[in-house]
Amino acid sequence: MKCLIFLTASVWLTEAGKRSEPMENIVGVLALQGAYQKHIDMLHALGVSAQSVRQPHQLTDCSALIIPGGESTTISLLIQEYGLYEPIKTFADSLPVMGVCAGLIMLASEVDDVRIKPLELMPFKAIRNHYGRQLHSFTADIKLNFDHSNKFFHAPFIRAPGTTQLSPEIEVLATHNDKAVMLSTGRHLALSFHPELTNDSRIHQYWLNRFCQ
Ligand code: GLN
Repeated sequence: MKCLIFLTASVWLTEAGKRSEPMENIVGVLALQGAYQKHIDMLHALGVSAQSVRQPHQLTDCSALIIPGGESTTISLLIQEYGLYEPIKTFADSLPVMGVCAGLIMLASEVDDVRIKPLELMPFKAIRNHYGRQLHSFTADIKLNFDHSNKFFHAPFIRAPGTTQLSPEIEVLATHNDKAVMLSTGRHLALSFHPELTNDSRIHQYWLNRFCQ
C-alpha cells in the first residue's frame, strides 16, 4: 500500500481517511554520490523513515525518492552503471521524485551537456553551473510561493543549475532573479538550491505533504 498521506511520524491516513497502523513507508535517497546524508538526516528529524538507495531492488521498499545534489556527470554515469536508469523511470511513473541541484539536472528533459543522460521526468531544460563555479556559491533569500508565513527561505546555491524552456504545465514555486529555482510538474519537484543544507525543513515538509501521497 503505497498511497499513504504523510502527516507526522506516527499518524498515517489511508486514502479512505482511516487511521492505520504505521506501515513501512520509506523515502529513498539516491546515494551514489553527493549530499545524500543531509536529506536522510532532515527526513529523520521530521520523523520520516528514509534509506539510501544504491541498487534497483532497494527502490521497491520506497514510496518516494530524492535525487540529491552532487556532480551530475558522475551521478548520471553511476545511475547507468548501477542499472538504475530504467528502474527510476518506472518508479517515477507512479511515485514522486524530488531532484536537488544535480538532481534537478537529472529530472530535466534536456541538459546543456551531452555527457548527461537525463531521466526526462520534467519538461524543461537544465543549464549546468548557470550560477557559476564553486567559488561563486552564495545564499539568497527567496520567497516560497506556497508559504504564507512571509518568511524568506535562506537558500544555498552551490554551482547551481539554471532552468530554461519551461513547458507551460510547469508550476513555478520559487524564483531567483526571475529564473525558476523551484518547480514542479505532476508528482515531481526540482530545486536549483540545497534545502537540506539549512535548518529550515519547510521545503521537505511541503514535499511530503503535497507530493508524497
Ligand atoms: N552544477 C553541478 C553539476 O552539474 C551540480 C551542483 C550541485 O549539485 N550542487 O553537477
